[in-house]
Amino acid sequence: MLDLVSGIKHRSEPAGPCAYCRSKPAIAHSVVPTFLFPDHAQNVREELLCPACYDTISKWDHVGRTVLTGIPYELGTATGCLRIANPPYRELRLWLLSLLWRMAIATGPIWRNVQLGEEPDLIRELLVKETPAAANHFPIGLILPSFDGRRFDFSFEPDVVDREYKLVRAAFGGLLFFFELHIDATLQETDQFYLRPNQDWNIPIDDWQNIDFVRAWVHSLYRQTVKKQR
Ligand SMILES: [Zn+2]
Repeated sequence: MLDLVSGIKHRSEPAGPCAYCRSKPAIAHSVVPTFLFPDHAQNVREELLCPACYDTISKWDHVGRTVLTGIPYELGTATGCLRIANPPYRELRLWLLSLLWRMAIATGPIWRNVQLGEEPDLIRELLVKETPAAANHFPIGLILPSFDGRRFDFSFEPDVVDREYKLVRAAFGGLLFFFELHIDATLQETDQFYLRPNQDWNIPIDDWQNIDFVRAWVHSLYRQTVKKQR
């Protein structure tokens, strides 16, 4: 968790080129869309995209927003599964890949743990070609933590864990996003956890206490609150 983050990134030199088209000058925008992460103090505006490329990515943001706003806050269950019926694979994958890419290239403190190697360039190529790639190419899944049967709107600092591959974990709008940075040859067409073309997308609902990094986040928040009250 971050205690102090400036609201606006100060910069004296002129903006660099857009990270997407690599030609026109970038202007400042929130790194990830504010509907997903309304905390302006942490979702600091950065000069990543030019206006035209921002428009392109905003169209995918709109698709993401439409899908996510369909996820209710009253889950009515502590565990189970939420099914999103046949979501628009191409646009939704491009949106999710663009979120991963934006977190990886941003320089604000909240994104400091999303340090990747060549993947941002590979993802940018997919985005520029507007190619969502196969479901097993950087597989993406969501988990919905349940707080006494409710979706609780929270966000916290994304991180990367090293398994056999790098796994980027982020929390936005009370949803956990999992981005696997590999091509998973074993990913089964039947694995409904991942976004796949022409398939319903199943989002597991699990009690927050069963999810280790949500538990760790709640504990760190608790410790900070106790410290401030002393
Ligand atoms: Zn551009």
